[in-house]
Amino acid sequence: MGIINLFDPWKSKLCTCPRKYTINPYTGCSHMCLYCYTTSYIGLRKSAPKKDIIKRLKKDLERCDPRIPIDMSLSSDPYPPEEKKYRITRKVLELLLPKGFKVQVTTKSTLILLDLDLFQKYNVAVSMTITTLDDNLARKIESFAPVPTERLKALEEIFKAGVPFSVRIDPIIPYLNDDKEELKELVREVVSIGAKHIVTSTYKARPDNFKRMVEKFPELEHKWRKLYYPKGRVRGYAYLPIDLRKRLLSIITSEAKKLGVSYATCREGLITKEFFNAKSCDGTHLIPERFSSKFRKTITLTDKFEK
Ligand code: SF4
Repeated sequence: MGIINLFDPWKSKLCTCPRKYTINPYTGCSHMCLYCYTTSYIGLRKSAPKKDIIKRLKKDLERCDPRIPIDMSLSSDPYPPEEKKYRITRKVLELLLPKGFKVQVTTKSTLILLDLDLFQKYNVAVSMTITTLDDNLARKIESFAPVPTERLKALEEIFKAGVPFSVRIDPIIPYLNDDKEELKELVREVVSIGAKHIVTSTYKARPDNFKRMVEKFPELEHKWRKLYYPKGRVRGYAYLPIDLRKRLLSIITSEAKKLGVSYATCREGLITKEFFNAKSCDGTHLIPERFSSKFRKTITLTDKFEK
């Protein structure tokens, strides 16, 4: 396993992602979202730069195809508070972008603005996660990430800088952020700022994130158990009943459709036009082709990464 890897979400049939690489400059995530899925694999820990990341990345670049987009990051935020001190994400971008790689930066953080200069010059799109417009609720479920009003302000800057962005409304959690009118307002708000694509998903319960959720919201435990674990055993990835998933997701997708932006769902296995009307589900189709490098022009490999 290298620093750059082909994205393979557990070979899930429910995933509609295009072929892409993923890179995580950090391991662990200081944002400590209650619903985080990554903690099932690595435990709950603060962000720390990956060991020898720059050295390992330089080695990986020899075997990566720059035509395949890179999603940064999917299992830790690339802009945790620690980024102010380490600037690891910046160093990674400074290696990737001048080689012509196409990068989507996925974050909940306003620190992304530190690297706007790079985004304006190279092939970068942003995917900002916003799960609610309610700062108080966000403080409870995404305790150490910047609140939504700050993320919206950051998106205004990103838009002014001419950098394309999508918004990830993920996860939708029953009884917390599933109010129909509030979700529609969230879509309207981000589209009015300049979002070109919306991707959404429902909360999938894992034993460890479910435990954190019920510790924080004990009054909802019974209702969530009925929805997620009707047979009683808390294990694996538990999905909501399909009818409920469709009902919640269609609030977002129908509003996006009405406003004329592309939309998709994530890890829901829903590919009809009602739920998926975009060149990519994840927003990587928004990455602009601003910059081409000698490295990229001379490379002829197709699947060198796997060889
Ligand atoms: S920002 Fe993402 S990776 Fe970090 S804790 Fe939240 S869900 Fe997990």
